[in-house]
Amino acid sequence: MPKVVTKLIARNEVAEGTMAFALDRPTTFDFRAGQYMVVVLPDPPHTDAEGNRRVFSIASPPQDTTRLLLATRMTGTALKRSLAEVPLGTPVDLSGPGGDFVLHADASRPAVFIAGGIGITPFRSMLQDAVSRHLPHRITLIYSNRTPEGAAFHEEFARLAQTHANLTYVPTMTQADKARQPWGGERRHLNADFLRSHIAEIAASIFYLAGPPGLVAAVTKAVSEAGVDPAHVRSEEFAGY
Ligand SMILES: Cc1cc2nc3c(=O)[nH]c(=O)nc-3n(C[C@H](O)[C@H](O)[C@H](O)COP(=O)(O)OP(=O)(O)OC[C@H]3O[C@@H](n4cnc5c(N)ncnc54)[C@H](O)[C@@H]3O)c2cc1C
Repeated sequence: MPKVVTKLIARNEVAEGTMAFALDRPTTFDFRAGQYMVVVLPDPPHTDAEGNRRVFSIASPPQDTTRLLLATRMTGTALKRSLAEVPLGTPVDLSGPGGDFVLHADASRPAVFIAGGIGITPFRSMLQDAVSRHLPHRITLIYSNRTPEGAAFHEEFARLAQTHANLTYVPTMTQADKARQPWGGERRHLNADFLRSHIAEIAASIFYLAGPPGLVAAVTKAVSEAGVDPAHVRSEEFAGY
């Protein structure tokens, strides 16, 4: 994987306990929507046994030529505290891209994206890419969080679905009773019944699952119980959560 030096150019909170960090995009860094990058913060102000290197899916689309966005849950580890504190302009080592978690070419097959929490990052890139390129794929995004406040990019997906007939957005908030804002949508956990009630063409669809390993394992079981052919399932586990 080629390595380049870039820098941190922006950061902001995108949900409760979740921050996005923008890196200056080197002109030589090409990637496909859904791929990841490897980020090293040299000489961080905080250190711990987990080190200063992490893998992050690229949350911005390839059409954004100026920056590479990553989004992460602020778990309190030294690297994440360092990223939140260092001055903008701080150098960051970047390698990549990596991975083949990318949208299938055959548009006659619908795509079902299923994200748990921060597993949304590759899908944000893939959705914006699909919109930019006017791809004909029918896409359903199922996004599970505890509360709306903790769901990064939730409003953005709701808006996108309103204006793009090919996109269906199904957020579920499994602890909506603990939310500050009212929630009138889905609250169920992702199981086979949930999938059957929201996906019209289960047999024809290609499924993409992303999130913490426990979530990916649970959804893999659910899609299997819903009758999905394992050959139609692709997953990205965010090891480390
Ligand atoms: C393909 C891919 C894409 C990812 N995309 C994102 C993303 O978009 N946003 C995000 O927040 N996180 C993402 N992650 C997870 C991310 O790399 C971190 O592990 C996670 O954010 C937890 O980091 P931490 O500092 O909070 O926790 P920590 O507990 O400190 O865990 C992170 C440390 O443990 C290591 N680690 C632990 N278990 C494993 C394992 N099974 N395999 C390899 N290394 C392990 C990590 O390399 C790292 O050093 C992704 C992981 C992968 C593999």
